[in-house]
Amino acid sequence: MTIIDMTIHELHAALKGKQISSVEATTALLERITAVEPQVGSFITVTPEQALAAAKAADHRIASGDCQLLTGIPLAIKDIFLTEGIRTTCGSRILENFIPPYSATSWEKLRDCGAVLLGKLNQDEFAMGSSNESSAYGTTRNPWDTTCIPGGSSGGSAASVAARQAVATLGTDTGGSIRQPASHCGCVGLKPTYGRVSRYGVIAYASSLDQVGPLTRDVADCAIMLEAIAGHDPKDSTSVDTPVPNYSASLTQGVKGMKIGLPKEYFIDGLDPDVQKAMDAAIDTYRRLGAEFVEISLPNTDYAVATYYLIATAEASSNLARYDGVRFGHRAEADGLLDMYTKSRSEGFGSEVKRRIMIGTYALSSGYYDAYYVKAQKVRTLIMNDFVKAFADVDVMLTPVAPTPAFKIGEKINDPLQMYLSDIFTIPVNLAGTCAMSLPAGFSAAGLPIGLQLIGKPFGEESILRAGYAFEQATEWHIRKATI
Ligand code: GLN
Repeated sequence: MTIIDMTIHELHAALKGKQISSVEATTALLERITAVEPQVGSFITVTPEQALAAAKAADHRIASGDCQLLTGIPLAIKDIFLTEGIRTTCGSRILENFIPPYSATSWEKLRDCGAVLLGKLNQDEFAMGSSNESSAYGTTRNPWDTTCIPGGSSGGSAASVAARQAVATLGTDTGGSIRQPASHCGCVGLKPTYGRVSRYGVIAYASSLDQVGPLTRDVADCAIMLEAIAGHDPKDSTSVDTPVPNYSASLTQGVKGMKIGLPKEYFIDGLDPDVQKAMDAAIDTYRRLGAEFVEISLPNTDYAVATYYLIATAEASSNLARYDGVRFGHRAEADGLLDMYTKSRSEGFGSEVKRRIMIGTYALSSGYYDAYYVKAQKVRTLIMNDFVKAFADVDVMLTPVAPTPAFKIGEKINDPLQMYLSDIFTIPVNLAGTCAMSLPAGFSAAGLPIGLQLIGKPFGEESILRAGYAFEQATEWHIRKATI
């Protein structure tokens, strides 16, 4: 097996057995990045010097007998994570030259295990989008078909795993941004429960929804990454102080007797026939493995997209107020303070970000606050209660990740509503604050990957990883490789 095809657990075994060094692995991936970047465009910044220095340090560590699961493993992270001394743009012009003075906790945890950073990955501007087309640094393309979008907003995080440019990556998920690109690029992506992973040092989009999570080649790697980044962080008051289970240890327990819910609102007429076929086949596979299916209802699903686009934009309008040209980020030549604010923000933000700031500001403004923002918060509670009720009867839920496989670049960019609606199956999970994972479950007639979503109870990551692992062992979808 060539180095670039290896999973974390495979490369770890080779590093530990001294068949491969981290410098060799890092060099192989850096060469792969150079070779395929012109077609894929997963990265905003590649950091070869730092990567090789970190690989050398990892090799010393391994030589001294300290080889943890992530020691010497070359990874890449979304450009939303602050990295001390390394440019962090969040996909925006307004942060084009921003070099953070400190790093995100989630990245620091990986780095402390000895992981190697290859670079920073492309994304929709400020994580607002489902296609990567709102990045100020060009659109990442889908490695399975470069005329298609990779999904968003963590499009670079998914595409780089599928194109074998990084062994695994980190993304963030506010309304589906880990799971939808994972589904479109044929990798595994997990959005942990709100509070499971620290958000410290992650550029804020919608703070009550944002969560950090891994994108990987298989479920075992996903467990390894989650275990490394999860846990309480005194620097993030919303991170929860509850012990981190040994996710890897429970993977092999199987799904015999597991109760899987099928929310009827997620299996609708508009579902793409290829997606429906993949879901039917997945249900059959789980039946064979001994799981039981129960039809359940999440009655407020219809309101989820509207609720999300009020809450997320309201929080974004407040979070993005800090980009005013005063202390950091782009500052325009201007005549006085007000002019500086206006010009800096007009020049620095792209049109999708401006649209969201305007929607959010409107929803929060006096006279409309009760009609929009407060109402959205009430509906959010109803959606949360739907999940609590449904989870009284089932262990996990199975749904599609997206209504269609990856669409063409340019297809929805001028129709924001169509773009927003494509998040229908991922958004409710963020509103409910619970966890969910996307994993490869088939291909469309055109050869594009289709993902399956497993939704877990709050802090039920173990169950979805276990169910995902059982499915992966019984199928071969995760083994197929993009031809790029
Ligand atoms: N597509 C959704 C949005 O544009 C979700 C993005 C995300 O999860 N960051 O808001």
